Amino acid sequence: MNPTAQRLQTSSLSPDTAILRHRQWAGEPWLGELKAGQTLRIVDLEGNQAVDVLFYNRHDVAEHYSATDTIQQQGGIYLTTGSRLLSNLKRPMLEIVADTCGRHDTLGGACSAESNTVRYALQKKFMHSCRDNFLHALALADIGLSKRDLVPNINFFMNVPVTESGGLKFEDGVSAPGKYVEMRAAMDLWMLASNCPQLNNPCNAYNPTPVEILVWDH
Ligand SMILES: [Zn+2]
Repeated sequence: MNPTAQRLQTSSLSPDTAILRHRQWAGEPWLGELKAGQTLRIVDLEGNQAVDVLFYNRHDVAEHYSATDTIQQQGGIYLTTGSRLLSNLKRPMLEIVADTCGRHDTLGGACSAESNTVRYALQKKFMHSCRDNFLHALALADIGLSKRDLVPNINFFMNVPVTESGGLKFEDGVSAPGKYVEMRAAMDLWMLASNCPQLNNPCNAYNPTPVEILVWDH
């Protein structure tokens, strides 16, 4: 696979037949369940929003999404249609089956108090971050997951190109209003998401916006 390939693919699923249609407000965490065989869609309602996501095996939460195994297996650093999202046991957790955005990041990591400080300014440390959102959702959920389970995540709709010298850049998004990514679950999963609250990054025009999460039973 070409490491920078974008594979645009639309979906035939209608929102009218979804069993879940959830509006995820800007800056908020969300913890949801997915069953094997279900299809998940995340819609970037207003464009250039980032949705930070981790997946865990619902029957053994020590098995989690693995960015390194996913990248190594597909021979490419971006996620798009056809990407299989592998676990740390190298088993498929989900497969991306449709994608109208074209590429998603899994290198940049989640924003945190620490990255707010390093990237922006010391006084930004206490602003909301995806890592704090993850921790907040897990503290309320009591499902056996905690700080130690936060591993490198997926940033849906986020554009983090790798430069020729091997550095990472946080660029303006390649997404736009209404673009979506859709994936089918291969096992029963927890989905831990943070609709990024970042107010310091120009890539979302300093304006976090809502997204929509839909689930179909097939
Ligand atoms: Zn974030």
